[in-house]
Amino acid sequence: MTAQIINGKDLAGKLREKMKEEVKELVKHDITPHLTVVLVGEDPASKSYVSGKKKASAEVGISSEVIHLPKETTETELLQLIKKLNEDNNVDGILVQLPLPKHINEQQIIETIDPSKDVDGFHPINIGRMMIGEKSFLPCTPYGIVTMLRSIDIELEGKHAVIIGRSNIVGKPVGQLLLNENVTVTYCHSKTNNLVEYTKKADILIVAVGKPHIINSDYVKEGAVIIDVGVNRIEDGSLTGDVDFEDAKKKASYITPVPKGVGPMTITMLLENTIKAAKERNRR
Ligand code: NAP
Repeated sequence: MTAQIINGKDLAGKLREKMKEEVKELVKHDITPHLTVVLVGEDPASKSYVSGKKKASAEVGISSEVIHLPKETTETELLQLIKKLNEDNNVDGILVQLPLPKHINEQQIIETIDPSKDVDGFHPINIGRMMIGEKSFLPCTPYGIVTMLRSIDIELEGKHAVIIGRSNIVGKPVGQLLLNENVTVTYCHSKTNNLVEYTKKADILIVAVGKPHIINSDYVKEGAVIIDVGVNRIEDGSLTGDVDFEDAKKKASYITPVPKGVGPMTITMLLENTIKAAKERNRR
């Protein structure tokens, strides 16, 4: 068997075309969704993510602004800015690019963002609502992963998903979203004994670790769907995933590549959340 590729870039492109039309309609009603991104410091990866978000917003007609603050910005100053953006009627979505410099308490910042503007879906209110299956902003990467899984020709209900990684932004929430789809979920992490015993039982294997090629075909059940979330820069400067793509694709039924996999979907779901935030605010 050779797996079919789930091309996140193509799927993201299709979704963004639809969003473009949706935004055009909103603009006719004087609603231009607006995203404010806050970047603190000069981390090159963060700068590149932020410029990607700005570019993608422009592509679909979302207006966006990047507030770039120096790395010495204090927690108090950042909190004041968030409070100002919460009150600003022109701002629909607020995103604070993580990680923040060490002297700033990230959780404190996340919890200060108005949950109705929390387009990253990291506020505990949105996470709590997601847990109980209520309407909320879904965290972008997990939302993108579930959207990719829905786009292929498989029934999710009753499947067994094994998730490697339990971070608050990827592993934990993606498991919850799949549980909401009636998937049976197993979580693995760095303290899991005999990882392969679990992964070999996965109909859907989601790898969100951040270590290049820790998963190869030996870990994969014949016909499994593999979602590779990992983004790792290797010695030659190129990007690679957590999964040995060439090897694992021999056994999988579907597999996501890196790049052009989960990454473009993450940004797309951010755009979707921003449009949703604008619609909700104007409905109130
Ligand atoms: P993270 O917070 O560092 O979490 C990594 C998880 O992997 C932890 O739960 C850790 O277990 C587990 N782990 C580490 N070594 C392991 C091992 N040998 N066996 C099994 N589990 C192991 O990372 P993250 O933020 O979730 O991100 C994971 C990867 O996804 C990174 O490469 C990141 O760059 C990428 N990412 C991509 C996107 C995208 O849009 N494409 C978005 C977000 C993240 P413990 O909990 O026990 O420490």
